[in-house]
Amino acid sequence: MTYFSGFSVPFLLKLSLISISLQVPTSLQFPQENPIITDFDVSAQTRITRGDDHGSDVEWCYQNATCGETTWPSTCLTGKAQSPINFPPLEKTTCTIKNFPRTSYNSQKFSLESNGKSLVIKLLDKTKQQRIHFQWQEQNASYNFNSIHMHWGGNNSVGSEHSIDSKRFAIEMHLIHVRADFKTLPDALSFGKKNALAVLGILFEVDPNLKEKQNENLQPIVKNIHEITHSGVVKNLEEKLNLQAFMKGNHAYHYMGSLTTPSCNEAVAWLVWQKPIKISSLDLDALRTVKNTMGEPLMNNFRSTQKTNERKITLCEIKAGKVKDNVGNKPTQEELMAHSKL
Ligand SMILES: [Zn+2]
Repeated sequence: MTYFSGFSVPFLLKLSLISISLQVPTSLQFPQENPIITDFDVSAQTRITRGDDHGSDVEWCYQNATCGETTWPSTCLTGKAQSPINFPPLEKTTCTIKNFPRTSYNSQKFSLESNGKSLVIKLLDKTKQQRIHFQWQEQNASYNFNSIHMHWGGNNSVGSEHSIDSKRFAIEMHLIHVRADFKTLPDALSFGKKNALAVLGILFEVDPNLKEKQNENLQPIVKNIHEITHSGVVKNLEEKLNLQAFMKGNHAYHYMGSLTTPSCNEAVAWLVWQKPIKISSLDLDALRTVKNTMGEPLMNNFRSTQKTNERKITLCEIKAGKVKDNVGNKPTQEELMAHSKL
């Protein structure tokens, strides 16, 4: 049985540390043979569990009283560096991302699928993941692109996970990046670094003036959504997607936080673009036709904002640059020794 990419069933069974996140009891999954994965994919549809962190073993959801946010496990409820958060209306930049290779996010070919919790967008050519790559000096790390997914609301005034000055947006797109010194996302998470992942967040808002005029850069997704008839169906997009067009302006909020779904690992260096992208309500209507595992429309798949807890929130200037060699930020010998003892 193959579906999605990457890991075979025997391989999964070998990894006792890895478990598959389920949205609904196995007996209710549709189609039944497909395990359901959660927000942060991704390449393996798996989630690390370790010690008392049983986050990925549990059923979870967004709204239902029996599996909603207040029932999420371990770190989700007890962590002090959780995501998303509300950003203050900062204007002055106090950090810089040097040499950010925007053009490498241009014109790539992707596939679309629903994992039951979100719409997941993956590069068709996985070898290009390492070519969409940036160095983040402040993190002393470099990151490779992994995948994209989206959060959206049931009405136009909600949907984003982060908010700015308490204003929520209609959609938030997450571009997941994994530290370049790890082969897979689960590997990076298992290493226990606070900056194992870098996630770029992009906010979208409905402009009533646009009416029928849809956002042209979203159309490769919007035009094909009707083919995602249920979770597990993969649609290869014929048109390329220009992600660079979603990176509007030169400013992004930065703070250290977590995955926004169980098991809520506090392992993410966040960069959320300050300027939202304007879309038509027709674009959003299309997203609301994506189906969850029960064949129902998927929406309101966002987590509430979390306490900042004295964390530093900065506004960064993003400076354009080219992709540099994919080297550096290897774990030190000391770090590898520490990891081997886990
Ligand atoms: Zn997300």
